[in-house]
Amino acid sequence: MNSVPNLRRITVLGATGSIGMNTLDVVARHRDRFEVYALSGHSQLGRLRDLCIQFAPRIVVTADEAGAGRLRADLQAAGCATEVSSGPQALVEIANHPDVDCVMAAIVGAAGLQPTLAAAAAGKQVLLANKEALVMAGGLFMAEVRRAKARLLPIDSEHNAVFQSLPYGYSGDAAAAGVRRIILTASGGPFRRMNAAALSRVTPEQACAHPNWVMGRKISVDSATMMNKGLEVIEAHWLFNVAPEQIEVVIHPQSVIHSLVDYVDGSVLAQLGNPDMRTPIAHALAWPDRLDAGVRSLDLFEVAQLSFERPDSQRFPCLDLAYRALRAGGTAPALLNAANEEAVSAFLDRRLGFTRIADVISATLDAIAGTPARTLDDVLGADGRARMFSRSLISRWREEVV
Ligand code: NAD
Ligand code: MG
Repeated sequence: MNSVPNLRRITVLGATGSIGMNTLDVVARHRDRFEVYALSGHSQLGRLRDLCIQFAPRIVVTADEAGAGRLRADLQAAGCATEVSSGPQALVEIANHPDVDCVMAAIVGAAGLQPTLAAAAAGKQVLLANKEALVMAGGLFMAEVRRAKARLLPIDSEHNAVFQSLPYGYSGDAAAAGVRRIILTASGGPFRRMNAAALSRVTPEQACAHPNWVMGRKISVDSATMMNKGLEVIEAHWLFNVAPEQIEVVIHPQSVIHSLVDYVDGSVLAQLGNPDMRTPIAHALAWPDRLDAGVRSLDLFEVAQLSFERPDSQRFPCLDLAYRALRAGGTAPALLNAANEEAVSAFLDRRLGFTRIADVISATLDAIAGTPARTLDDVLGADGRARMFSRSLISRWREEVV
């Protein structure tokens, strides 16, 4: 398909976001190795226009036709020949197009599920940032990866660290590889030391000011509630085929050790680095080679100290809720994810208090029974039911406050 040997054609889903922009930063450093086939963005049309001018993709996809019309006019005026398309079906088409080798899945939330699944079903190299896709439909997703022989590379810094610390060619058989445990590190977020009373009053601005990472708003809130780590436990289960009790979480406030693998002989292997998402992105883009990511070397003298703490499940109940959903199996993780997305969105709109996020998720898991997740419809049905239930709960609680 490629006219130039070794030039890989890439689609970046969610190009205007934090992961998308970091991906394009790495790609821009290696134009001899990557060609951008397609980009997508939801609402930041100005940024999408600038990216089209810089990378000249063949296609760009926006949320809707109104945005597409505006972008088309802008690109025409700028002399950029990129074709403009819109909507969920167009996202699927840029993810599974035969001319594409590699798909960066960096849309946030459930909206990323179908194009990410389409990339896997088409046997692409899938760079997975969109953890919600795996949380919702892990069994179906991994079955598609195996069936279509897709190459799945984790972008989440923890899972990328685990991937790097596992034996080359790890097949998903933890016992055969001598793996005892996977240890995911967590920064603890901006409220690690805050007491329960103060937690109930935190604002979206405080929750989005992460001490170590600059990220999108949804994942920033997830980091503050520790749900991000919960979603990552479920993600690790599917990616590495390990049982819930083999996945441990440790608070490591410096975010230098990105995660660890504990082997039966007592060896513990880890991946370290400065907290910069361009490292896992460059690793996955180049795998099994290495690429200069533009990230400075880790200065251990500057780091000086690494520390570790146990997570506090009293103040941060979301982590246990995720373990509960993982153990329940079936559609329970999809219910958890949908309730979390609704609660986080309500918190960001100031319709829900911070500590109420966990209450919404817990009440949703109590109210709606999980079922087997055999088809995409099972997953999407659970997602819809959990959203309906949690939205009505959020508005009821709001009326009680007013
Ligand atoms: P972000 O909010 O910065 O960007 C999200 C992207 O998704 C944007 O391009 C946006 O236009 C697009 N988008 C949003 N809603 C959409 C919809 N309904 N349909 C289509 N596109 C839509 O988020 P981010 O921080 O880049 O995170 C992206 C994903 O990567 C998330 O799943 C997150 O959990 C994961 N992740 C992010 C980081 C990080 O450091 N930012 C680290 C690990 C994992
Ligand atoms: Mg992470």
